[in-house]
Amino acid sequence: MKEIILCKYGEIALKGLNKSTFESMMMKSIRRRLKKFGEIKITKAQSTVYVEPMSEDIDTDEVVDRLSKIFGIIKLCRCCVLEKSLDSIINDSIEYIRPDLECARTFKVEAKRSDKKFPHKSPEICIELGGKILQEFPHLTVDVHKPDVVVMVEVREQNAFVHAGNLDGAGGIPVGSSGKAMLLLSGGIDSPVAGYMMAKRGAVIDAVHFEAPPYTSDRARMKVEQLAKKITDYCGDVAFYCVPFTKIQETLRDKCPEEYFTILMRRLMMEIAQRLAEKNGAQALVTGESLGQVASQTMYAMVCTDAACRLPVFRPCIGLDKTEIIDVARKIDTFETSILPYEDCCTVFTPRHPKTRPTLEAVEKAQALYDWEDMIAEAVEQTTVKMIKLE
Ligand code: ATP
Ligand code: MG
Repeated sequence: MKEIILCKYGEIALKGLNKSTFESMMMKSIRRRLKKFGEIKITKAQSTVYVEPMSEDIDTDEVVDRLSKIFGIIKLCRCCVLEKSLDSIINDSIEYIRPDLECARTFKVEAKRSDKKFPHKSPEICIELGGKILQEFPHLTVDVHKPDVVVMVEVREQNAFVHAGNLDGAGGIPVGSSGKAMLLLSGGIDSPVAGYMMAKRGAVIDAVHFEAPPYTSDRARMKVEQLAKKITDYCGDVAFYCVPFTKIQETLRDKCPEEYFTILMRRLMMEIAQRLAEKNGAQALVTGESLGQVASQTMYAMVCTDAACRLPVFRPCIGLDKTEIIDVARKIDTFETSILPYEDCCTVFTPRHPKTRPTLEAVEKAQALYDWEDMIAEAVEQTTVKMIKLE
């Protein structure tokens, strides 16, 4: 039986005059992500994208899995395609929904007619199909309040569709609809989650990583690249910038008061990140910081960090507990990679007693002990870039 996937819009449906711009970005995302599967027909009508695998050897499970990671889609319905007649809806849908109904105890039928010209009204469709289901599956009873399975009939322009339940989509708005952001990507748990969250709100993500060889290894960098790869499922292609940071860190160690080391390092990271952002058309910086998680993430420290930034700094994990961040990391499948035990440049020189309540005045004074401009310019100059592609 012919199967199709209906992708229902989330917030895009509410976008008024801008709706078609958002729609075309989402269509582009869908086309790009389904390209690898071969021939799939993708069309849109009535705030729904129709995804129709055109060949037998396309694995629909995999297609659905891919679609479930595309921002802008709130629900996915995998359904059978039927002729637009009451007879077909009642008789031809049974085999398709059989597996769902066999293991249920209760059900209800809902019907929606986008085509108001269809001669049978929704209550009639529900009664007829409901009756047929009770006849075919005598173990079932109807429960209109909390059914195990909702059988949904949608009568649309060309066809009728029947399915036995929605799957959750990724939600959010299409990547590309909110500008581009430069994500500071470490090898930790939080920053990939931050990238995912910004992409969910439509941002294209570029990533910048600071490494400090020989204190940090190639394998540590490869781990971060792997994290960038993992988030492409949601974010699409990610331009990955890698900044050599050793010289700056060693100079910090030698020239600046130890208790200001971390905060100065963060300010210098931000300076380099924003130069790369400006050079490459990103409008904001993103970090994985969460308020109060560590000494450099107190509000005092963040005020001092932000004072070094011209661009806005977004911190989508700011109000999340570590356990909540981990839940997202597991969902997007970055957690297992993040916990691989490689060194990060942040952990190479850590002060014994970092200032948790630095004042901006003291921080700026400590930073002024050295003229950083040449070193910053050199780090930007020597930054390498690699396109991490969605496969
Ligand atoms: P994460 O799990 O993201 O590493 P964390 O809790 O370990 O976060 P920190 O190490 O203090 O926190 O880093 C805070 C934020 O600074 C990170 O979320 C990331 O955005 C950025 N960051 C830290 N180290 C690096 C690095 N080596 N390269 C790029 N960004 C970094
Ligand atoms: Mg970290």
